[in-house]
Amino acid sequence: MKALRIDKTDSGSSAAFVDFYEGALMPGNVTVRVSHSTVNYKDGLAITGRNPVVRHFPMIGGIDFAGTVETSDDAAFAPGDRVVCNGWGLSETHFGGYAEKARVKGDWLVRLPDSLSEHDAMAVGTAGYTATLAVMALERHGLTPADGPAVVTGAAGGVGSFSLMLLKKAGWHCLAVTGRTAEADYLRDLGAAEIVERAELSERGKPLGKERWAAGVDSVGSFTLANLVAQLRRGGAVAACGLAQGMDLPASVAPFILRGAALLGIDSVYCPRARREEAWARLARDLDRDKLASVTRTIPFAEVIDAAHAILEGTIRGRVVVTIP
Ligand code: NDP
Repeated sequence: MKALRIDKTDSGSSAAFVDFYEGALMPGNVTVRVSHSTVNYKDGLAITGRNPVVRHFPMIGGIDFAGTVETSDDAAFAPGDRVVCNGWGLSETHFGGYAEKARVKGDWLVRLPDSLSEHDAMAVGTAGYTATLAVMALERHGLTPADGPAVVTGAAGGVGSFSLMLLKKAGWHCLAVTGRTAEADYLRDLGAAEIVERAELSERGKPLGKERWAAGVDSVGSFTLANLVAQLRRGGAVAACGLAQGMDLPASVAPFILRGAALLGIDSVYCPRARREEAWARLARDLDRDKLASVTRTIPFAEVIDAAHAILEGTIRGRVVVTIP
């Protein structure tokens, strides 16, 4: 079968398309015929080797996939079931979705809701599923649109685009923070009521700023996340998903102890199954399919490496679906 394999090299790692022997797939009790995967930011890091995502070499890349069960020793799944898999160490410690087949533990799989195709599932991908976990975390914290506006950083990216769609659907007034103000129309179409220039939040700010938003979804980290928290309304919360600006968090405790601000960490990789199922059911219910199509581009398997470089350069808007031959 065709696979995209990442190998260790003297200078780090390298990725290439290879013919891979199916019998060499890692242990698991369900084998899935993969039909679609995606290119997430983390795939960009793994394929280019910019960050040490891959922890076991050789590795098949792809942090998520959708497809059809081919064989199963797990009573919960039968051949023909349509499934999605996100995280669980795919492309880090376990072979991922950039191959014609994947063998995984049945516990890692979520059955696709009837109304979502495999292509839809990967248009959502780990980015959309993570955005859903973030919105659910804000809601569990008790926040509602009546508390004030919501802010979304990295808005034209994958997590950001889905966060805007889901927050808008739930009735929030959304501010979209972006470095690509030329994408303002796209962001408004997804649900942004206001556009904020990325530069306004990306430098060191005051420990406690003007109260601007009640909730936030952040894909960026570093000073941006610190500023988001510093400008939260009393009792507000930010769901921290990513590190596109940096892994650091140069923040003050002031918003936490003076305004009761909360920082909610989002880990999509080892998220418990019940919450995953809730997230996918929510996506099936709430996602506007026309908007989903408008944020999605589909590429052939052969273009994955180019797309991995592009996503790190910040030139990809929304989501990229990969068709696996
Ligand atoms: P994308 O590349 O699609 O989106 C990231 C966006 O961040 C860009 O589109 C850009 O938005 C913005 N951005 C890029 N560089 C910078 C910078 N230097 N400063 C400020 N903003 C910047 O990636 P994804 O949406 O797939 O992932 C976003 C982040 O979330 C990544 O760090 C990823 O690793 C993380 N992630 C975490 C998960 C988890 O489980 N916690 C799961 C999925 C993703 P714009 O052009 O609008 O400014």
